[in-house]
Amino acid sequence: MPVEPLNSETLFAVTGLSKHFGGAAKGWLQKEKPAVKAVNDVSFTIARGETFGLVGESGSGKSTVARLMLRAYDVTAGSIRFRRSDGNTVELASAGKAELQALRRQMQMIFQDPYSSLNPRMTLLELVGEPLLIHGVASGSELEDRVAELLRLVGLRPEFRGRYPHAFSGGQRQRIGIARALALNPAFIAADEAVSALDVSVAAQNINLMQDLQEQFGLTYLFITHDLSMVQHISNRIGVMYVGRLMEVSATEPMFAEPLHPYTEALLSAVPQPDPKRNRGRKRIMLKGEIPDASNPPKGCAFHPRCPYAKDICKAEEPELREAKPGRFSRCHFAGELSLTGAY
Ligand code: SF4
Repeated sequence: MPVEPLNSETLFAVTGLSKHFGGAAKGWLQKEKPAVKAVNDVSFTIARGETFGLVGESGSGKSTVARLMLRAYDVTAGSIRFRRSDGNTVELASAGKAELQALRRQMQMIFQDPYSSLNPRMTLLELVGEPLLIHGVASGSELEDRVAELLRLVGLRPEFRGRYPHAFSGGQRQRIGIARALALNPAFIAADEAVSALDVSVAAQNINLMQDLQEQFGLTYLFITHDLSMVQHISNRIGVMYVGRLMEVSATEPMFAEPLHPYTEALLSAVPQPDPKRNRGRKRIMLKGEIPDASNPPKGCAFHPRCPYAKDICKAEEPELREAKPGRFSRCHFAGELSLTGAY
């Protein structure tokens, strides 16, 4: 079941998506190991031109969701529908190699580490021009002109195109990654912790750049981060992940004002507010225990061992992700009944 009905404005519709790693024994001497359920029954939609933030602690499965959506991984179960540039919808979960190759022009990814994600032996011209060459879009002087245009778009000087990545700062390297992602005019970009390794002011500049590019080219973003305060400024809606499950999906402002899931409340309690008056009286919620092992998650609600509101039913029955308020979804038995504190 999709979280929201698919309409003409929907670019992605992810339904019941699961990815399990390992499990099967590799030889007759090996015992079968429990599968790691990295992503479990995840459903959400992303509208055209929207920025959807996916947040959660390390190991929550958010990066795996992005890699599944771009089909860098095979899907264990579920559906990923994508609206192509011609308006027709395609099922990515079962798409073959040739179909995926053609669709990859429309979906790109920006990676976390601007140092390791760029080949140090390639010049800027080669790095940004490579997707154009691979897809046979441009070569020769046409390619050089397009690379110069892309570099200008991300605020880098085209004269630098003969330089290697080591000559640039972390923020500039991230911009090279953005230029490379833009080369094929994609409709969708997944940014995986794209600004997490940068200083706050450099990260803010690159986020502003991404917002300008979004406006200019009508881009749709999936913005993955562990930092809720970062997504607050860029996302229209946010999905909160925990042990491979989506715990809450809400528009940004209502989520920050009044979360519907106790895990979201705990994450929000750690978000500092620039206005000191808004911080007054707020208490950081320190969750007890560790994130559970995804190969052996707790029965019932995966969050129950750490949840301050857990009751008997939480240990026995896993809650569904359900619409608790119009357009807002929570995977909690008591969604809408608990009085949870937001970030302000
Ligand atoms: Fe907490 Fe129970 Fe809700 Fe899970 S279902 S978040 S344990 S109150």
